[in-house]
Amino acid sequence: MRAESELLNIIYAKGEMAERTRAFNWSATSIGPIADWPVQLCAAVNLLLDSGFPMFIWWGKEKIQFYNDAYRDILGGDDDSKHPKALGQTGEECWQEIWPVINPLIEDVLETGDAVFFEDQLIPIDRNGVLDEVYWTFSYNPIRGQDGTPDGILVVCTETTKSNRQLKEKEQQLPALEKQKQLYDNITSGTPDLMYMFDLHYKFTYANRALLEMWGKTAEDAIGKGLRENGYEEWHAEMHEREIDQVVATRERVRGEVAFPHATLGKRIYDYILAPVMDESGEVVAVSGTTRDITDIKKAEAAIIESEARFRNMAEGSGVLIAVASVTGDITYFNKAWSVLTGKDTEELLGFGWCTIVHPDDKDAYLNLYLESLEKQVPYTGEYRILGKNGEYRWLLTSGSPRFELDGSFTGYIGSSIDITERKQNEQRKNDFISMVSHELKTPLTSTISYVQVSQRKASDRGDTMTAGMLDRAYRQLGKMKTLINGFLNVSRLEAGKIYIDKKRLNLASLLKEAEENIMPEAGTHTMIFAPVAETWVNIDKDKIEQVINNFVSNAIKYSPPGTTIQIDCETKGSFVHVSVRDEGMGINPEDQEKLFDRFYRVEGQESKSISGFGIGLYICKEIIERHGGEIGVISTPGKGSFFWFTLPVER
Ligand code: ADP
Repeated sequence: MRAESELLNIIYAKGEMAERTRAFNWSATSIGPIADWPVQLCAAVNLLLDSGFPMFIWWGKEKIQFYNDAYRDILGGDDDSKHPKALGQTGEECWQEIWPVINPLIEDVLETGDAVFFEDQLIPIDRNGVLDEVYWTFSYNPIRGQDGTPDGILVVCTETTKSNRQLKEKEQQLPALEKQKQLYDNITSGTPDLMYMFDLHYKFTYANRALLEMWGKTAEDAIGKGLRENGYEEWHAEMHEREIDQVVATRERVRGEVAFPHATLGKRIYDYILAPVMDESGEVVAVSGTTRDITDIKKAEAAIIESEARFRNMAEGSGVLIAVASVTGDITYFNKAWSVLTGKDTEELLGFGWCTIVHPDDKDAYLNLYLESLEKQVPYTGEYRILGKNGEYRWLLTSGSPRFELDGSFTGYIGSSIDITERKQNEQRKNDFISMVSHELKTPLTSTISYVQVSQRKASDRGDTMTAGMLDRAYRQLGKMKTLINGFLNVSRLEAGKIYIDKKRLNLASLLKEAEENIMPEAGTHTMIFAPVAETWVNIDKDKIEQVINNFVSNAIKYSPPGTTIQIDCETKGSFVHVSVRDEGMGINPEDQEKLFDRFYRVEGQESKSISGFGIGLYICKEIIERHGGEIGVISTPGKGSFFWFTLPVER
C-alpha cells in the first residue's frame, strides 16, 4: 500500500473533482484503494481529471463512477444534485431513471469493444430536483485492460440542449418564414417586373415568376446559379458582376438600361436597379434587383418625339400660320410663317406677346373670344387685324382647336390662321360696288315708282281699268325691287358700320297695330292672326323694328303654302318682350337653322329654288335686334312650320 502523500503522484490533477477522487474511500467499493488500481484505470482517471471537456467513467462490473469538474457542472449544484454522490457510486444506483436505456449500450460496448457515438440524444436527467429534458452528444469509449478487453467505459459528452432548443425554435419559426416567403412570392409573381437577389458570389438566390418565365426556367434550374449559367452573354454577365461589386463597395444603388432577348418576346429594352441588402451591422450581405421592361414606353417616347418632329417640320414649312397654346392660354409655339408675316422674332410673340400687335379695335373682342373658349375648352373661329412687317394691318382668320390627352385632360390649343386681307379687300370692293349700284338704282327707281303711281291714278280716272291694272302690277313689282335694293344698301351700310339706330320710346302695341294694317291687304293668300297686344313700352328705332317684323311676316308668306295660318304674337316675359311669327310652312332643317342669320345664306332645295330672295333679310334682322340689346332665333320642324322670334328689353 502506498502512503497518502504518494497519491499525488498517482492522481495528479488539481480542482474539486481531483481532490474528491483522492479523498474518496475507494476501499469501500469493488475497485479497491487507489494504490491498487490497475495502470489503465489510473491513466484514464488522470486523463479525465485533466480534461476541460465533460467526461465520465464507468469501471468494472459494477460500473463504479468517476467524473471531472466539467461533468460536475452538468450535474448541477443544488441539494438534490447527483453531485457529489455520483463519485464512486454504481451506475445503476446513480442513473436509476435511465438505467434500462443506457445499460444495454454500456454492456454492448464492453462486450464488443466498439465505441459508440450519439448525436443530440434526448436523455432526461434528474437535475436540480426536476426531470430535465437534456440533449446530449456523447461517445462511449472502451478502456481496455492489459489483455485488451474492455474493463471500463470512458464517456465523453457535451450537452447540446441549448443549440437543440434553438434549432427547435427555428423549426417552429419555419412555417412563419415559409408563409412570409409565400406572401412575398405572391406579390412578386403578380408583377411583370423582374425581381431577383444575388449573393456576393453573383449567384441568384431568388428570381420571381416573371424572371423565370423570361429565362424559360424553373426555380430549381435557376436558383443557386450564376448569370452565365442562366443564359447571360459574357458581356452582360460581366457588366452585372461589376455592378454588384460596385453596389457592395459603395452600398449605393446602381441604375442602368440594357437591351437583351426575352425567351418569348424577342429583343426588349430593360431599366434596372441593383440595391444593397444590408444586415444589422450595415454590411452588404446580398444585392437585390428589379428590372422593368420599358420597350413599349421607349417606343411610345420615340413615336412622340418623331410625331413632334414631324409636326414641327410640317409647321415650319407651312405657309399657314400655326401656333400652339398651353392650358393657361399662353402661346408656347409660333411657326416661321408668323415671323414672316409680322417681321418679329417669334420669341417676342410668345405667351400673350402677340396681343401687343393686334389692332386696338379688334383686340378686346378677339381676346374675349379666345379666353372664353379657353375656359370652356371649345373650338373657336375669329377674325382680327394684326400689324404686319410693313407697318400695315393684315386681316387674319384664326381657328383654334382644343387639344386633349388620351385620358381626356385638356392640354391647350392648336391654332391655325390664314391671311384674309385680300378677301376682306375684295369684299369691301364688292360692298362698295353694291352700295354704289344700289344707290344709283334707287333714284331712277323712286322716280319710276312715282311716274307709275301717277299714270295708274290717271288711267283709273279715265276708266281705263286694263291699263290701271297693269300699272298696279308694275307698281307692286317695282315695290319688290325697291325692297331688294334697300336690302343691299342696308348690308353695305351695315358692314361699313354706317347703319344708325335712332331709338325712341314708344308703345310696341301701336307699332304692331300699324304693321297689321299695312300687312293685311297684302296677305290675302293666308289666314293672318294678330294676337292682342298689351301696352308695352320699348326704346327702339321704329323703322328698323318694323323692318324685322315685315321680314318675318313676308318670309312666312313666302315659305308656307297659301291657305295656311300665320300667327303674330307679342308677350312680355320678365324684362323682355317676345315677338314671334309662327307659320305652317316647309320648315327648316336643324343644320340650316343656325346659319339662317348669316349673310347671303339661303337654304338649298327644290322648294326654295323657285322663291326669290338673296338671303340678306335675316342677316340684317339679327344685326338690328342685337343693336337693340335683344336676341333673335328660330324653332322649326321641317314639313311642319317655323317659329321665328326676337326679344327687346322692356322700358318700365
Ligand atoms: P331670303 O331673301 O332668301 O328670304 P332671308 O335672310 O330672309 O333671305 O332668309 C334666309 C333663308 O331662310 C331663306 O332663303 C329661307 O331658306 C329660310 N327661311 C326664312 N324664313 C323661313 C320660313 N318662315 N320658313 C322656311 N324657311 C325660311
